[in-house]
Amino acid sequence: MSAFFNRLAFDNRYADLGYGFSTPTDPTPVPSPYRVHFNEQAANLIDLPAGAAEELDFVEFFAGNRVIPGARPVAQVYAGHQFGHFVPELGDGRALLLGQVRNQAGESWDLVLKGGGQTPYSRDGDGRAVLRSTIREYLCSEAMHALGIPTTRALCIIGTDEEVYREEIETGAMLLRMAPSHVRFGHFEFFHHHRRHEAVKRLADHVIDEHFLELATVTGEARYRAWFEEIVRRTARMLAQWQAVGFSHGVMNTDNFSILGLTIDYGPYGFQDAYSHGFVCNHSDHWGRYAFDQQPAVGAWNLQRLGNALSTLLSPESVEAALSVYESEFVQTYVELMRAKLGLLQPRPEDPRLITALLDLLDQYRIDYTLFFRRLSFVFLAPGSEDLRMATMFADSQGFDRWLKVWRNRLLAEGSSDAKRGAVMQAVNPAYVLRNYMAEKAIRKAKEKDYSEIDRLFRLLREPFSEHDNDGDYGGSAPEWASGLAVSCSS
Ligand code: AMP
Ligand code: MG
Repeated sequence: MSAFFNRLAFDNRYADLGYGFSTPTDPTPVPSPYRVHFNEQAANLIDLPAGAAEELDFVEFFAGNRVIPGARPVAQVYAGHQFGHFVPELGDGRALLLGQVRNQAGESWDLVLKGGGQTPYSRDGDGRAVLRSTIREYLCSEAMHALGIPTTRALCIIGTDEEVYREEIETGAMLLRMAPSHVRFGHFEFFHHHRRHEAVKRLADHVIDEHFLELATVTGEARYRAWFEEIVRRTARMLAQWQAVGFSHGVMNTDNFSILGLTIDYGPYGFQDAYSHGFVCNHSDHWGRYAFDQQPAVGAWNLQRLGNALSTLLSPESVEAALSVYESEFVQTYVELMRAKLGLLQPRPEDPRLITALLDLLDQYRIDYTLFFRRLSFVFLAPGSEDLRMATMFADSQGFDRWLKVWRNRLLAEGSSDAKRGAVMQAVNPAYVLRNYMAEKAIRKAKEKDYSEIDRLFRLLREPFSEHDNDGDYGGSAPEWASGLAVSCSS
């Protein structure tokens, strides 16, 4: 075996919590696995050199055909509210926590094999993942990271010759996911529901000891209150970042909400193309429960469920007090982010009105969200040719012209300079986001064993804030054929 893998410093602290928290489960081997894509940056996080991906072992280990020395794979148990309904036992039905690896900088990373085979929590599922959804998660989680949004990471995609049955026969694949922790709101809901209050406390202490070091010396109820409030704040900020970049998660169930405030479980997500307040990216979400403009409120609702699950650690007053910071944390972060997108450096009380007026215009005329802000970052204070380029995005530009005037006056009032503002705006308004059709192109090629488009998108989305040469027109709006694409929960 290659020395690279011997050096991975596993310490399986989650598995050490014992049987109540997870079940030891080995991955189920697959026939003839092969490497589809490898992420050097993520490998770096666990001190795995790029050369490791060339080793025969690499594919064997990350296909789950062999267990990496030192790893102790387990499936975690959790519950969750799915589309508003409580499901008392979910758990990792197709993900295996191989263990935690500590890097030389002292950071600990969960290695999770998604699609590694059946577990005690698979219910009727096959424990597998398909190439399509694996590519979507791989590209999007790394794109979100490059956009500065807290997220799980992805180390590699491994393809298999196993056929996986969904609505049709699909190519099987698996993803190696990384995060400091994979604990979800639903973990606490599980133990609370089953009245295992000791386990709630034990898991809370585990999470705090591992990931909230600033609370190490805080004791009693104050410890859990400060922790819960920090989760509320992180979740609010994550939601603000989603809204500002135009990201829709698609399945905001409490089992898909990370205790660390990370974006997790990329399924039928979508970025806003032609902007719509009520954008529903998930074809299976018939009632629009997780529509774009509902997301912030759903974040709060999910936190209430978590607060309830922590009710043996916290008084009702403490839960309420922590939950009450959500709205202000969300609004403050969101307005700050949008102000930056608009190139406004000084806060003014009228800013929320300016933002709302713009979003209403984008919604009314279905303007491409990413493109609009990117183009706006090249508009000068003095009216010029860029104005026209923007105005032609609107079927009728009267409303936009009015808005542009207000925006310019606002910039003049704070003595904005073109050069400085342009640079600031371009650094926060991406030229590229992962639109569905882009992932779709990569998927179609990958099904023919051509991974060049995955690689191209991977490079593009890793640096989303500058225009790339030969970008395959990915800096434009989605083509006509993309409007027929639908993504659903099936993955
Ligand atoms: P998701 O919608 O992917 O977040 O999954 C919801 C629940 O279903 C989780 O408990 C998953 O582990 C489980 N699950 C999803 N797909 C499969 C599958 N193919 N096999 C087994 N369990 C699955
Ligand atoms: Mg999930």
